Amino acid sequence: MSLVVKMNGGQNMNGNGVHHVSVRTHLSVNPAKLKSLRQRWNVKPSEMSKKTLNPIRAIVDGMTLTPNPEKPMIALSIGDPSVFGNLPTDDSVLQALKEAIDSQKYNGYAPSVGYQKSREAVANFYSCPEAPLEGKDVILASGCSQAIELAITVLGQYFSPTPGFSLYKTLAVSMGIQVKHYNLLPEKSWEIDLQHMESLIDDKTTCLIVNNPSNPCGSMFSKEHQQNILSVASRNCIPILADEIYGDMVFPGCDFQSLAPLSSDVPILSCGGLAKRWLVPGWRMGWILIHDRNDIFGSEIREGLVKLSQRILGPCTVIQGALESILNHTPPEFYQSTVNFLKSNSEICFSELSTVSGLNPVMPSGAMYIMVGIEMEHFPEFQNDVEFTERLVTEQSVFCLPATAFEYPDFFRIVVTVPEEMMIEACIRIREFCARHYRPRSQDSHDLDQ
Ligand SMILES: *Cc1c(COP(=O)(O)O)cnc(C)c1O
Repeated sequence: MSLVVKMNGGQNMNGNGVHHVSVRTHLSVNPAKLKSLRQRWNVKPSEMSKKTLNPIRAIVDGMTLTPNPEKPMIALSIGDPSVFGNLPTDDSVLQALKEAIDSQKYNGYAPSVGYQKSREAVANFYSCPEAPLEGKDVILASGCSQAIELAITVLGQYFSPTPGFSLYKTLAVSMGIQVKHYNLLPEKSWEIDLQHMESLIDDKTTCLIVNNPSNPCGSMFSKEHQQNILSVASRNCIPILADEIYGDMVFPGCDFQSLAPLSSDVPILSCGGLAKRWLVPGWRMGWILIHDRNDIFGSEIREGLVKLSQRILGPCTVIQGALESILNHTPPEFYQSTVNFLKSNSEICFSELSTVSGLNPVMPSGAMYIMVGIEMEHFPEFQNDVEFTERLVTEQSVFCLPATAFEYPDFFRIVVTVPEEMMIEACIRIREFCARHYRPRSQDSHDLDQ
Protein backbone atom coordinates (compact mmCIF):
# COMPACT_ATOMS: atom_id res chain seq x y z
CA MET A 1 0.00 0.00 0.00
CA SER A 2 1.30 3.47 -0.82
CA LEU A 3 0.39 6.73 0.86
CA VAL A 4 0.86 10.13 -0.65
CA VAL A 5 2.02 12.59 1.94
CA LYS A 6 1.92 16.27 1.19
CA MET A 7 4.66 18.27 2.88
CA ASN A 8 4.49 21.90 3.95
CA GLY A 9 6.41 24.41 1.92
CA GLY A 10 6.88 22.28 -1.16
CA GLN A 11 3.74 23.70 -2.70
CA ASN A 12 2.75 23.18 -6.31
CA MET A 13 6.31 23.12 -7.73
CA ASN A 14 6.46 20.36 -10.30
CA GLY A 15 5.15 17.87 -7.85
CA ASN A 16 7.96 18.54 -5.40
CA GLY A 17 7.21 18.15 -1.78
CA VAL A 18 5.07 15.14 -2.57
CA HIS A 19 6.47 12.01 -1.05
CA HIS A 20 5.43 8.44 -1.47
CA VAL A 21 5.68 6.42 1.68
CA SER A 22 5.27 2.69 1.76
CA VAL A 23 3.29 1.47 4.71
CA ARG A 24 3.13 -2.16 5.77
CA THR A 25 -0.36 -3.01 6.68
CA HIS A 26 0.01 -6.73 7.41
CA LEU A 27 2.82 -7.63 9.73
CA SER A 28 2.03 -11.30 10.10
CA VAL A 29 4.76 -13.43 8.52
CA ASN A 30 4.47 -17.01 7.46
CA PRO A 31 7.20 -18.88 9.46
CA ALA A 32 7.69 -21.42 6.65
CA LYS A 33 8.87 -18.62 4.40
CA LEU A 34 11.68 -17.66 6.76
CA LYS A 35 13.53 -20.90 5.90
CA SER A 36 13.92 -19.85 2.29
CA LEU A 37 15.75 -16.68 3.20
CA ARG A 38 19.50 -16.46 2.66
CA GLN A 39 21.43 -18.59 5.16
CA ARG A 40 24.67 -16.62 5.03
CA TRP A 41 25.64 -12.97 4.84
CA ASN A 42 26.54 -12.02 1.32
CA VAL A 43 26.67 -8.25 0.96
CA LYS A 44 28.18 -7.09 -2.32
CA PRO A 45 28.63 -3.63 -3.79
CA SER A 46 26.46 -2.82 -6.79
CA GLU A 47 27.77 -2.84 -10.36
CA MET A 48 27.38 0.92 -10.47
CA SER A 49 29.53 1.46 -7.42
CA LYS A 50 32.18 -0.85 -8.88
CA LYS A 51 32.17 1.09 -12.13
CA THR A 52 32.61 4.41 -10.34
CA LEU A 53 36.26 5.34 -10.55
CA ASN A 54 37.92 8.64 -9.82
CA PRO A 55 41.06 8.59 -12.00
CA ILE A 56 42.80 11.13 -9.79
CA ARG A 57 42.40 8.88 -6.77
CA ALA A 58 43.36 5.82 -8.79
CA ILE A 59 46.63 7.45 -9.88
CA VAL A 60 47.51 9.27 -6.67
CA ASP A 61 46.78 6.23 -4.51
CA GLY A 62 49.08 4.18 -6.73
CA MET A 63 51.98 6.60 -6.24
CA THR A 64 54.60 6.32 -3.52
CA LEU A 65 54.50 9.76 -2.01
CA THR A 66 57.22 10.00 0.62
CA PRO A 67 58.34 13.60 1.03
CA ASN A 68 61.92 14.55 1.78
CA PRO A 69 61.95 14.94 5.60
CA GLU A 70 64.30 17.91 5.30
CA LYS A 71 61.85 19.96 3.27
CA PRO A 72 58.32 20.89 4.28
CA MET A 73 55.71 19.55 1.88
CA ILE A 74 54.20 21.90 -0.68
CA ALA A 75 51.06 20.51 -2.31
CA LEU A 76 50.36 22.19 -5.64
CA SER A 77 47.79 19.54 -6.40
CA ILE A 78 44.65 20.51 -4.52
CA GLY A 79 41.97 22.26 -6.57
CA ASP A 80 40.44 23.90 -3.51
CA PRO A 81 41.18 27.62 -3.13
CA SER A 82 40.26 27.60 0.55
CA VAL A 83 42.91 25.16 1.83
CA PHE A 84 45.73 27.59 2.62
CA GLY A 85 43.55 30.32 4.12
CA ASN A 86 45.07 32.99 1.88
CA LEU A 87 41.96 33.39 -0.25
CA PRO A 88 39.00 33.83 2.10
CA THR A 89 35.58 34.48 0.65
CA ASP A 90 34.15 37.97 0.98
CA ASP A 91 32.59 39.13 4.27
CA SER A 92 29.37 39.93 2.44
CA VAL A 93 29.10 36.27 1.41
CA LEU A 94 29.48 35.14 5.03
CA GLN A 95 27.01 37.80 6.15
CA ALA A 96 24.43 36.60 3.61
CA LEU A 97 24.65 33.08 4.99
CA LYS A 98 24.37 34.24 8.59
CA GLU A 99 21.25 36.20 7.75
CA ALA A 100 19.75 33.23 5.93
CA ILE A 101 20.29 31.05 8.99
CA ASP A 102 18.99 33.65 11.44
CA SER A 103 15.83 34.24 9.42
CA GLN A 104 14.81 30.62 10.17
CA LYS A 105 13.04 30.66 6.81
CA TYR A 106 15.22 28.00 5.25
CA ASN A 107 14.94 25.01 7.52
CA GLY A 108 12.44 23.02 5.50
CA TYR A 109 12.47 21.24 2.16
CA ALA A 110 12.68 23.47 -0.86
CA PRO A 111 11.33 22.40 -4.23
CA SER A 112 13.84 19.90 -5.64
CA VAL A 113 14.93 22.35 -8.36
CA GLY A 114 15.38 25.13 -5.79
CA TYR A 115 13.34 27.99 -4.35
CA GLN A 116 11.76 30.07 -7.09
CA LYS A 117 13.27 33.23 -5.59
CA SER A 118 16.78 31.75 -5.65
CA ARG A 119 16.35 30.48 -9.21
CA GLU A 120 15.24 33.94 -10.26
CA ALA A 121 18.28 35.47 -8.58
CA VAL A 122 20.58 33.21 -10.62
CA ALA A 123 18.58 33.90 -13.80
CA ASN A 124 18.86 37.68 -13.26
CA PHE A 125 22.57 37.42 -12.56
CA TYR A 126 23.32 35.61 -15.84
CA SER A 127 20.57 36.90 -18.11
CA CYS A 128 21.60 39.08 -21.04
CA PRO A 129 19.68 40.37 -24.09
CA GLU A 130 21.21 37.74 -26.43
CA ALA A 131 20.48 34.89 -24.02
CA PRO A 132 17.63 35.88 -21.70
CA LEU A 133 16.93 33.68 -18.69
CA GLU A 134 14.00 33.38 -16.31
CA GLY A 135 13.63 31.52 -13.04
CA LYS A 136 12.18 28.50 -14.85
CA ASP A 137 15.42 28.19 -16.85
CA VAL A 138 17.49 27.59 -13.71
CA ILE A 139 17.90 24.34 -11.81
CA LEU A 140 19.81 24.54 -8.56
CA ALA A 141 22.00 21.59 -7.66
CA SER A 142 24.36 20.38 -4.99
CA GLY A 143 27.51 21.90 -6.45
CA CYS A 144 28.44 22.22 -10.08
CA SER A 145 29.28 18.52 -9.89
CA GLN A 146 25.65 17.58 -9.40
CA ALA A 147 24.62 20.05 -12.08
CA ILE A 148 26.95 18.22 -14.46
CA GLU A 149 25.61 14.88 -13.31
CA LEU A 150 22.02 15.94 -14.00
CA ALA A 151 22.97 17.28 -17.41
CA ILE A 152 24.94 14.17 -18.42
CA THR A 153 22.23 11.88 -17.13
CA VAL A 154 19.52 13.62 -19.11
CA LEU A 155 21.49 14.02 -22.35
CA GLY A 156 23.42 10.76 -22.54
CA GLN A 157 26.43 9.86 -24.66
CA TYR A 158 28.88 12.63 -25.06
CA PHE A 159 32.26 14.01 -25.93
CA SER A 160 34.66 15.52 -23.51
CA PRO A 161 38.07 17.15 -23.83
CA THR A 162 41.54 15.76 -23.18
CA PRO A 163 43.09 17.04 -21.12
CA GLY A 164 39.86 17.42 -19.20
CA PHE A 165 38.18 17.45 -15.83
CA SER A 166 38.00 13.82 -14.74
CA LEU A 167 34.49 13.99 -13.27
CA TYR A 168 32.89 13.84 -16.74
CA LYS A 169 34.28 10.40 -17.37
CA THR A 170 33.73 9.17 -13.83
CA LEU A 171 30.04 10.01 -14.02
CA ALA A 172 29.47 8.64 -17.49
CA VAL A 173 31.31 5.35 -17.02
CA SER A 174 29.42 4.66 -13.79
CA MET A 175 26.16 5.15 -15.68
CA GLY A 176 27.26 3.01 -18.60
CA ILE A 177 27.34 6.02 -20.92
CA GLN A 178 29.99 5.91 -23.61
CA VAL A 179 32.51 8.76 -23.71
CA LYS A 180 34.67 9.90 -26.57
CA HIS A 181 37.56 12.29 -26.14
CA TYR A 182 38.43 15.16 -28.42
CA ASN A 183 41.88 16.75 -28.26
CA LEU A 184 42.92 20.18 -27.10
CA LEU A 185 45.96 21.79 -28.70
CA PRO A 186 48.60 23.10 -26.26
CA GLU A 187 50.40 24.99 -29.02
CA LYS A 188 47.19 26.92 -29.69
CA SER A 189 46.58 27.83 -26.03
CA TRP A 190 44.52 24.68 -25.62
CA GLU A 191 41.94 25.39 -28.30
CA ILE A 192 39.83 22.43 -29.36
CA ASP A 193 41.05 20.44 -32.34
CA LEU A 194 37.74 20.99 -34.12
CA GLN A 195 38.55 18.71 -37.03
CA HIS A 196 39.31 15.89 -34.65
CA MET A 197 36.16 16.60 -32.67
CA GLU A 198 33.94 16.65 -35.72
CA SER A 199 35.49 13.45 -37.07
CA LEU A 200 34.33 11.61 -33.92
CA ILE A 201 30.69 12.60 -34.16
CA ASP A 202 28.33 9.81 -35.14
CA ASP A 203 24.61 9.24 -35.03
CA LYS A 204 24.75 8.19 -31.37
CA THR A 205 26.36 11.41 -30.20
CA THR A 206 23.90 13.30 -28.04
CA CYS A 207 25.98 15.88 -26.23
CA LEU A 208 29.25 17.79 -26.41
CA ILE A 209 30.99 18.97 -23.26
CA VAL A 210 32.88 22.25 -23.46
CA ASN A 211 34.80 23.40 -20.37
CA ASN A 212 35.77 27.05 -20.59
CA PRO A 213 37.79 28.44 -18.83
CA SER A 214 39.44 25.07 -18.41
CA ASN A 215 40.47 22.83 -15.59
CA PRO A 216 43.28 21.63 -15.91
CA CYS A 217 44.53 24.07 -18.58
CA GLY A 218 43.61 27.51 -17.22
CA SER A 219 42.86 28.45 -20.81
CA MET A 220 40.09 30.70 -22.08
CA PHE A 221 38.66 30.41 -25.58
CA SER A 222 38.37 33.44 -27.84
CA LYS A 223 34.97 34.50 -29.10
CA GLU A 224 35.92 33.32 -32.60
CA HIS A 225 36.90 29.88 -31.37
CA GLN A 226 33.65 29.56 -29.47
CA GLN A 227 31.75 30.54 -32.61
CA ASN A 228 33.58 27.78 -34.46
CA ILE A 229 32.63 25.27 -31.76
CA LEU A 230 29.02 26.36 -32.08
CA SER A 231 29.17 25.92 -35.86
CA VAL A 232 30.23 22.30 -35.41
CA ALA A 233 27.42 21.73 -32.91
CA SER A 234 24.87 23.48 -35.09
CA ARG A 235 25.90 21.64 -38.28
CA ASN A 236 25.61 18.30 -36.53
CA CYS A 237 22.59 19.18 -34.38
CA ILE A 238 24.33 18.37 -31.09
CA PRO A 239 23.47 20.17 -27.84
CA ILE A 240 26.25 21.44 -25.61
CA LEU A 241 26.95 21.00 -21.91
CA ALA A 242 29.02 24.09 -21.11
CA ASP A 243 30.96 23.71 -17.85
CA GLU A 244 31.46 27.39 -17.05
CA ILE A 245 32.28 27.07 -13.34
CA TYR A 246 35.30 29.35 -13.99
CA GLY A 247 33.24 31.85 -15.99
CA ASP A 248 34.44 35.40 -15.29
CA MET A 249 37.35 33.99 -13.31
CA VAL A 250 39.79 35.25 -15.92
CA PHE A 251 42.81 37.50 -15.66
CA PRO A 252 42.50 41.27 -15.98
CA GLY A 253 42.55 42.12 -19.67
CA CYS A 254 40.97 38.82 -20.73
CA ASP A 255 37.32 39.20 -21.60
CA PHE A 256 35.36 36.08 -20.74
CA GLN A 257 32.49 35.32 -23.05
CA SER A 258 30.02 32.64 -22.11
CA LEU A 259 28.89 30.33 -24.89
CA ALA A 260 25.11 30.72 -24.92
CA PRO A 261 24.87 34.38 -26.01
CA LEU A 262 26.96 33.54 -29.09
CA SER A 263 24.40 31.13 -30.48
CA SER A 264 20.84 31.57 -31.58
CA ASP A 265 20.12 27.92 -32.28
CA VAL A 266 22.32 25.44 -30.36
CA PRO A 267 20.59 24.36 -27.14
CA ILE A 268 22.99 24.70 -24.21
CA LEU A 269 22.99 23.55 -20.61
CA SER A 270 25.45 25.86 -18.87
CA CYS A 271 26.69 24.56 -15.52
CA GLY A 272 28.18 26.78 -12.84
CA GLY A 273 28.23 27.38 -9.13
CA LEU A 274 29.59 29.24 -6.13
CA ALA A 275 32.59 26.96 -5.55
CA LYS A 276 35.37 28.70 -7.41
CA ARG A 277 34.46 32.30 -8.11
CA TRP A 278 33.12 32.84 -4.60
CA LEU A 279 35.81 30.58 -3.10
CA VAL A 280 33.40 28.37 -1.12
CA PRO A 281 33.56 24.89 -2.70
CA GLY A 282 32.35 23.26 0.50
CA TRP A 283 29.03 25.08 0.32
CA ARG A 284 27.95 22.78 -2.52
CA MET A 285 25.86 25.21 -4.52
CA GLY A 286 25.65 24.85 -8.27
CA TRP A 287 23.21 25.39 -11.09
CA ILE A 288 22.19 24.57 -14.62
CA LEU A 289 21.16 27.43 -16.89
CA ILE A 290 18.88 26.10 -19.62
CA HIS A 291 19.41 28.02 -22.84
CA ASP A 292 16.92 26.84 -25.40
CA ARG A 293 15.64 29.72 -27.45
CA ASN A 294 14.25 27.58 -30.25
CA ASP A 295 12.56 25.14 -27.93
CA ILE A 296 14.69 22.23 -29.10
CA PHE A 297 15.11 20.74 -25.63
CA GLY A 298 11.41 21.43 -25.27
CA SER A 299 9.49 20.16 -22.30
CA GLU A 300 11.02 16.67 -22.32
CA ILE A 301 14.55 17.63 -21.36
CA ARG A 302 13.29 20.15 -18.81
CA GLU A 303 11.01 17.54 -17.28
CA GLY A 304 13.86 15.04 -17.31
CA LEU A 305 16.00 17.45 -15.32
CA VAL A 306 13.17 18.10 -12.85
CA LYS A 307 12.61 14.38 -12.35
CA LEU A 308 16.30 13.72 -11.83
CA SER A 309 16.51 16.58 -9.31
CA GLN A 310 13.86 14.79 -7.26
CA ARG A 311 16.27 11.99 -6.45
CA ILE A 312 18.15 14.32 -4.09
CA LEU A 313 15.53 17.02 -3.33
CA GLY A 314 17.82 19.89 -4.19
CA PRO A 315 20.79 21.61 -2.59
CA CYS A 316 21.16 22.94 0.96
CA THR A 317 18.36 25.40 1.65
CA VAL A 318 20.23 27.95 3.77
CA ILE A 319 22.73 28.46 0.96
CA GLN A 320 19.77 28.87 -1.39
CA GLY A 321 18.41 31.45 1.03
CA ALA A 322 21.70 33.35 0.89
CA LEU A 323 22.07 33.12 -2.87
CA GLU A 324 20.25 36.27 -3.94
CA SER A 325 22.28 38.38 -1.57
CA ILE A 326 25.57 36.66 -2.52
CA LEU A 327 25.00 37.27 -6.22
CA ASN A 328 23.79 40.83 -5.84
CA HIS A 329 25.97 42.15 -3.04
CA THR A 330 29.44 40.68 -3.47
CA PRO A 331 31.57 43.76 -4.22
CA PRO A 332 33.40 43.85 -7.57
CA GLU A 333 36.68 44.42 -5.70
CA PHE A 334 36.42 40.90 -4.30
CA TYR A 335 36.37 39.29 -7.74
CA GLN A 336 39.11 41.64 -8.94
CA SER A 337 41.44 40.91 -6.09
CA THR A 338 41.02 37.14 -6.60
CA VAL A 339 41.89 37.28 -10.28
CA ASN A 340 44.73 39.73 -9.67
CA PHE A 341 46.23 37.25 -7.25
CA LEU A 342 45.74 34.30 -9.62
CA LYS A 343 47.34 36.23 -12.45
CA SER A 344 50.30 37.32 -10.38
CA ASN A 345 50.95 33.81 -9.07
CA SER A 346 50.55 32.36 -12.57
CA GLU A 347 53.08 34.83 -13.93
CA ILE A 348 55.56 33.97 -11.20
CA CYS A 349 55.15 30.27 -11.91
CA PHE A 350 55.21 30.66 -15.68
CA SER A 351 58.27 32.90 -15.81
CA GLU A 352 60.19 30.71 -13.35
CA LEU A 353 59.40 27.44 -15.09
CA SER A 354 59.74 28.63 -18.67
CA THR A 355 63.49 29.05 -18.11
CA VAL A 356 63.86 25.53 -16.72
CA SER A 357 65.41 23.17 -19.27
CA GLY A 358 63.05 20.35 -20.10
CA LEU A 359 59.83 22.04 -19.00
CA ASN A 360 57.25 23.84 -21.13
CA PRO A 361 54.63 25.67 -19.08
CA VAL A 362 51.63 27.03 -20.98
CA MET A 363 50.60 30.47 -19.71
CA PRO A 364 46.95 30.42 -18.58
CA SER A 365 44.33 33.16 -18.96
CA GLY A 366 42.12 32.24 -16.05
CA ALA A 367 40.82 29.58 -13.66
CA MET A 368 43.42 28.41 -11.11
CA TYR A 369 45.81 26.13 -12.95
CA ILE A 370 48.91 25.96 -15.13
CA MET A 371 49.77 22.95 -17.23
CA VAL A 372 53.48 22.23 -17.60
CA GLY A 373 54.80 20.00 -20.38
CA ILE A 374 57.70 17.66 -19.59
CA GLU A 375 60.19 16.87 -22.35
CA MET A 376 60.39 13.26 -21.28
CA GLU A 377 63.26 12.48 -23.68
CA HIS A 378 65.45 14.76 -21.54
CA PHE A 379 64.55 12.92 -18.34
CA PRO A 380 65.51 9.35 -19.24
CA GLU A 381 65.35 8.23 -15.59
CA PHE A 382 61.58 8.55 -15.64
CA GLN A 383 59.12 6.56 -17.71
CA ASN A 384 56.32 9.11 -17.57
CA ASP A 385 54.73 12.06 -15.81
CA VAL A 386 53.63 9.86 -12.91
CA GLU A 387 57.19 8.76 -12.13
CA PHE A 388 58.47 12.30 -12.64
CA THR A 389 56.02 13.84 -10.16
CA GLU A 390 56.48 10.97 -7.73
CA ARG A 391 60.24 11.57 -7.55
CA LEU A 392 59.64 15.31 -7.25
CA VAL A 393 57.90 14.52 -3.96
CA THR A 394 60.66 12.16 -2.80
CA GLU A 395 63.44 14.66 -3.43
CA GLN A 396 61.85 18.08 -3.13
CA SER A 397 58.58 17.55 -1.22
CA VAL A 398 56.62 19.26 -3.99
CA PHE A 399 53.51 17.52 -5.25
CA CYS A 400 52.00 18.37 -8.63
CA LEU A 401 49.26 16.27 -10.18
CA PRO A 402 50.51 14.19 -13.13
CA ALA A 403 48.30 15.00 -16.12
CA THR A 404 47.77 11.30 -16.78
CA ALA A 405 44.93 11.96 -14.32
CA PHE A 406 43.40 14.10 -17.08
CA GLU A 407 44.21 11.51 -19.78
CA TYR A 408 47.08 13.70 -20.94
CA PRO A 409 50.50 12.15 -20.20
CA ASP A 410 53.81 14.03 -20.13
CA PHE A 411 52.36 17.09 -18.46
CA PHE A 412 51.68 18.04 -14.86
CA ARG A 413 49.20 20.50 -13.40
CA ILE A 414 50.03 23.20 -10.87
CA VAL A 415 47.33 24.86 -8.77
CA VAL A 416 48.05 28.59 -8.47
CA THR A 417 45.92 29.42 -5.44
CA VAL A 418 48.76 28.69 -3.00
CA PRO A 419 50.37 31.59 -1.10
CA GLU A 420 52.95 33.48 -3.15
CA GLU A 421 55.96 32.51 -1.04
CA MET A 422 55.00 28.84 -1.41
CA MET A 423 54.74 29.25 -5.18
CA ILE A 424 58.19 30.83 -5.33
CA GLU A 425 59.75 28.15 -3.14
CA ALA A 426 58.07 25.39 -5.13
CA CYS A 427 59.44 26.78 -8.40
CA ILE A 428 62.97 26.95 -6.96
CA ARG A 429 62.71 23.31 -5.93
CA ILE A 430 61.28 22.22 -9.29
CA ARG A 431 64.20 24.00 -11.00
CA GLU A 432 66.70 22.21 -8.76
CA PHE A 433 65.01 18.87 -9.44
CA CYS A 434 65.07 19.34 -13.20
CA ALA A 435 68.68 20.55 -13.22
CA ARG A 436 69.64 17.35 -11.45
CA HIS A 437 67.84 14.99 -13.78
CA TYR A 438 67.98 16.78 -17.13
CA ARG A 439 70.07 15.04 -19.80
CA PRO A 440 70.86 17.42 -22.66
CA ARG A 441 70.14 16.23 -26.18
CA SER A 442 70.15 12.61 -25.11
CA GLN A 443 69.36 11.52 -28.66
CA ASP A 444 72.51 13.19 -30.09
CA SER A 445 74.89 11.94 -27.43
CA HIS A 446 73.46 8.50 -28.01
CA ASP A 447 74.31 8.83 -31.71
CA LEU A 448 77.86 9.86 -30.83
CA ASP A 449 78.30 6.75 -28.71
CA GLN A 450 77.62 4.55 -31.67
C1 LIG B 1 35.72 22.35 -9.37
C2 LIG B 1 35.08 22.04 -10.67
C3 LIG B 1 33.73 21.61 -10.73
C4 LIG B 1 32.92 21.22 -9.50
O1 LIG B 1 32.47 22.25 -8.77
P1 LIG B 1 31.62 21.96 -7.44
O2 LIG B 1 30.65 23.10 -7.41
O3 LIG B 1 32.57 22.01 -6.30
O4 LIG B 1 30.93 20.66 -7.56
C5 LIG B 1 33.17 21.38 -11.98
N1 LIG B 1 33.88 21.56 -13.11
C6 LIG B 1 35.17 21.94 -13.08
C7 LIG B 1 35.89 22.09 -14.37
C8 LIG B 1 35.81 22.17 -11.86
O5 LIG B 1 37.11 22.49 -11.84
